[in-house]
Amino acid sequence: MYRTTCRACGGKKFVKFLDLSPQPLAGGFLLPEKEAIKQEKLFPLPIHICQNCGLVQTLFVVPAKTLFVDYCFSSSTVPGLVTHFGDYAKWLKKKFKPEFVVEFGSNDGVLMEPLEKMGVKTCGVDISRNITKMAKEKGLNSIQGFFDEEMAEKIRKQDGRADIVTGSNAFPHNDHPEIILKAAKKVLKKDGHLCLEVMYLGDLLELLQWDFLYHEHLNYFCVTTLEIMLNRYGFHIVDVERLPMHAGSIRVVAAVDPKEKVKPSVKALLKYEKEIKITEIETWQEFGQKVQRAIEVTAKVMKSLSKNSRIWGYGASGRATMWVNACKMTYLEKIVDASPLRSGRLMPGTHTPIVFPEELKKNPPDYIFVTAWNYFESIKAKEPWFKGIWVAPAPELRFL
Ligand SMILES: [Zn+2]
Repeated sequence: MYRTTCRACGGKKFVKFLDLSPQPLAGGFLLPEKEAIKQEKLFPLPIHICQNCGLVQTLFVVPAKTLFVDYCFSSSTVPGLVTHFGDYAKWLKKKFKPEFVVEFGSNDGVLMEPLEKMGVKTCGVDISRNITKMAKEKGLNSIQGFFDEEMAEKIRKQDGRADIVTGSNAFPHNDHPEIILKAAKKVLKKDGHLCLEVMYLGDLLELLQWDFLYHEHLNYFCVTTLEIMLNRYGFHIVDVERLPMHAGSIRVVAAVDPKEKVKPSVKALLKYEKEIKITEIETWQEFGQKVQRAIEVTAKVMKSLSKNSRIWGYGASGRATMWVNACKMTYLEKIVDASPLRSGRLMPGTHTPIVFPEELKKNPPDYIFVTAWNYFESIKAKEPWFKGIWVAPAPELRFL
């Protein structure tokens, strides 16, 4: 299904600057069964920019239920993310001294856990059935469902109004972000704050991170476009900082109280975005051309290597799905991943088997193509025994 209006400004005119169609779902890791393979679908994946406000977005929408109900990404299996959320919990506590925090897209409770340990009451909402179960098993107050006004009302009746509503990486996943913003407004105190962590479009542009442009994500924010969207629903951005998470993210604080002062950090990032022309169409058309070239080069080089060498992949993330499918890497023997939610499954599209890191040692290949290139250094450090050649496809193709 294609949507026809911009999610930030409601505008109706778009320019397509990249087309990665057709693509399987980046997170659609398959069970190794004939039936699952037969049922796999490919979807269009054109990427657009709004001519009016400059929001970069995916207009083709796959129903959220298809995407997230059986979700293969539990945050606590990624070591870097556990540290990140521990730090985020401390940051929230220090800055706002909240009594009650509501989190949407709360996953397996990776943020709720450290908050609770510091004595902050939490409530998490997540659409995924299997992941919510994991949070509940840890004794966390996690509800399966959508964070909408009805849910906000339920939480308000049960636990009172919140000081903070937060979402890390879940916000860009929504075809209707206004539903979340209305819900947040409903459950927040008058002096409450909405804290969002989203992948930052500035880093996506600078590092040519086209492998983050997929069906699950839908919206790719910078401060300029996020402010336009938030303003429409009664919030304004008062603080922002850049984070290393997911190869570049921002943490945005938006206030309900219209009188709350805006920190210099917001103006500084807005100025930077103007300088790099982040909302201009030409910028993204150029980006699209660069991406096409990068895909062509990587596809050609790896294909020729595959004729005389054995190649494995490392890191079965959504980015991996993008690389192996865009570059048609059907020759990869295996993809290594430590997550029990993904190992044992098959890569979307290419159906490459995903295996635990132990398998790598048993049968080392000549090359390891690090699909999770944003964790390149930590992956390399985990396998110091490997004598073959490491390949990082981004920010530019490198052999080590
Ligand atoms: Zn727009």
